[in-house]
Amino acid sequence: MNYLKTMAKLGRGNELIFRVAVSVPVYRLFDYLAPDNFEPAAIKAGIRLEVPFGKGKKIAFLVEVADYSELDSSKLKRVSRILDEKSLLRAKDLRLLHWASRYYHHPLGEVIGAAFPVALRQGKLAVVQTEKYYNLTESGKTVDANQLQRAPKQKSLLEKLQQEQLPLSETELSAWNKNWRPLVKPLLDKQLIQLAQPESKVMFAASLVRDDTLQLNPQQMSAVAAIKEGLGRFGVFLLEGITGSGKTEVYLQVIRAVLERGQQVLILLPEITLTPQLEERFGQRFAIAQCLSHSKLTDRERQAAWLKMQQGDCFIMLGTRSALFTPLKNPGLIILDEEHDVSFKQQEGFRFSARDVAVVRGKILNIPVLLGSATPSLESLHNVDKKHYCLLHLPERAGNAIEPVLQLLDIRNKPMQEGLSEQLIEEIKITLAKKEQVLLFLNRRGFAPTLICHGCGWVARCRRCDANLVIHYAEKMLRCHHCGHEQRLIAHCPACKTGELTALGLGTERVEKVLTELFADKTIIRLDRDSIQRKGSLEGYLQQINQGKVDIILGTQMLAKGHHFPNVTLVAILDVDSGLFSIDFRAAEKLAQMIVQVSGRAGRCEKPGKVIMQTRRPEHPLLTTLLRQDYRSFAKTALAERKEAGLPPFSHQILLRAQAVDAQMPQLFLQAIVELVRPCNKGHIQVLGPVAAPMARRAGLYRYQLLFQSAKRRELHKLFDDAVPEIEKLKQAKKVRWSLDVDPVDLY
Ligand code: ADP
Ligand code: ZN
Ligand code: ZN
Repeated sequence: MNYLKTMAKLGRGNELIFRVAVSVPVYRLFDYLAPDNFEPAAIKAGIRLEVPFGKGKKIAFLVEVADYSELDSSKLKRVSRILDEKSLLRAKDLRLLHWASRYYHHPLGEVIGAAFPVALRQGKLAVVQTEKYYNLTESGKTVDANQLQRAPKQKSLLEKLQQEQLPLSETELSAWNKNWRPLVKPLLDKQLIQLAQPESKVMFAASLVRDDTLQLNPQQMSAVAAIKEGLGRFGVFLLEGITGSGKTEVYLQVIRAVLERGQQVLILLPEITLTPQLEERFGQRFAIAQCLSHSKLTDRERQAAWLKMQQGDCFIMLGTRSALFTPLKNPGLIILDEEHDVSFKQQEGFRFSARDVAVVRGKILNIPVLLGSATPSLESLHNVDKKHYCLLHLPERAGNAIEPVLQLLDIRNKPMQEGLSEQLIEEIKITLAKKEQVLLFLNRRGFAPTLICHGCGWVARCRRCDANLVIHYAEKMLRCHHCGHEQRLIAHCPACKTGELTALGLGTERVEKVLTELFADKTIIRLDRDSIQRKGSLEGYLQQINQGKVDIILGTQMLAKGHHFPNVTLVAILDVDSGLFSIDFRAAEKLAQMIVQVSGRAGRCEKPGKVIMQTRRPEHPLLTTLLRQDYRSFAKTALAERKEAGLPPFSHQILLRAQAVDAQMPQLFLQAIVELVRPCNKGHIQVLGPVAAPMARRAGLYRYQLLFQSAKRRELHKLFDDAVPEIEKLKQAKKVRWSLDVDPVDLY
């Protein structure tokens, strides 16, 4: 976008208006007078500005330059400062952000803000520290290193470059030898090495890949071929393959092809705990540097990675959800691994689905998007049915790995020890006797979810939420898992003063306790959010497991994701039943995905694995379908049920949430919205509510919600296009905190 024309049109005396978006939760844009001195040619949409805002200053993003403001120009303030010489975002990225702001009905300033790393959003200058690269000259390539016999350190640097056959960056050289710097000058003088362009790395296609000896199986081959054929234009591929079927191998081979075209790849993962593993595998395969983007990095690290991709200095980025908006100089491919994972949906603020936005980004950039999963979301399978996505299937485990056997263990009327049936304990013993590992899965942390009085029935509740306090026995604490409230574990009932307090239900801590009693001579580790507080501690545990130092691993859902445990041959899900009876219509899908994902941890190598699910409902259709057939059969049935019920993906939803300290206000506010939209609804949109949220009170706030559902996406969005400015104006809007969730994945 060029504003020179607008500027030229301006008559003398007229002031130029900078229309900007500010990263605050209001929908409107803000008008400012042009700054005092500026270079007109440099004024492009997307540049960052500093503007006076309220009592202070804020960073703003230029949306457009206009010659007219609806506000009296004497009331307008002036832009204080221009921060960017040119926009850090490209026109296509801005288009994506404008689209996202419209689609998610979210303020543009916050959406644009989300595209920047924190440091840049706060106004840090975008100084790119470009690294120098060195490679060999023609004579450096052929010279015999022994000629440098008398300068052994120079000789070793020459040998290093001859060995790598690739330009090496300053970082890479430092990793090789901290004292490399003094060696460069003499080698440059001797014209054995030279400064290289980082891009030229890609030219060394032959040496791009370190270790690429795997022979793909026929399904992998046809998947790789299909995606390679689709490079250079938009298309969505859904790679469905059970755990261990070689999806990652497909990614690696496709990425290679993209790099050989001189293009960049963005790989998104649901969890940061998965990055070290993949990072290592990528590092083994590719000789070029990759950069990371996730929340455990410092602001500086994230900014550096973002700018490297933006400048085209780096070709591979591995990141979580928020990395999606990283600008790419030469975009080639976007990959989303574990596409079904709900962590791809941001649950607060700008509530976007990284999967859905990735698809739109692929379309705008005209590049393919590759979605991978062992258990694709029903949305994506539906898109395959509608021929929007192209399905690629890897039905077998790659190499020699054998698929695990799934079995149900009926625990009705069976004696249990803290959630473990005798038969399961027997199975654990047999597995351990073979020197193999056991993985036990329970999706509830803490000791027990309820503390109840045996005398009077009093229950420990959170004062601020509609929830029980969870017992954390080792620390002698009671904690609310929803608001973080905590208090000391009490010994006597505060209600009747006499009754005995009992722990009701099972958490990982309680199972860990019984395991240490039953298997006193074995090494047991518990992996859940409580045991993994420190940065890097999960990696340490994973390493111990893979070195065979651990016999029994007990954990929550964080274990269900992507980790390789080659020596685990027995996996048990202690309590599947708790997932079978939920009011959330997505519960069945999530449970089926969890079961399949967890079972994927068993027997990844040549040893066969076994997966045991303890249940009191062995005839439940969800369980029997997964058992006798597979995830795909489950998905087919589930999709048919959704269609019958008119639920997503056969309809579209927008959820309006409101909360306040006052118990009535959220409901009044939502009721006012119902009245507000009634005249605009031509009958195609169902309006459900307002109703109290499933957790009606949380962190001291009363919560209500209003669900809009329609088979006609366009009409649903049209309604909100019109309604949002009116909702903002409602007098109750000032008295509640409200939010809009488009395509909600969680109705809580
Ligand atoms: P997924 O990502 O689907 O879980 P991976 O790509 O991680 O699967 O593959 C699982 C294991 O099988 C890895 O150890 C990988 O090196 C190996 N593997 C993948 N493809 C092949 C193949 N064609 N031949 C032999 N081993 C393979
Ligand atoms: Zn009591
Ligand atoms: Zn609470």
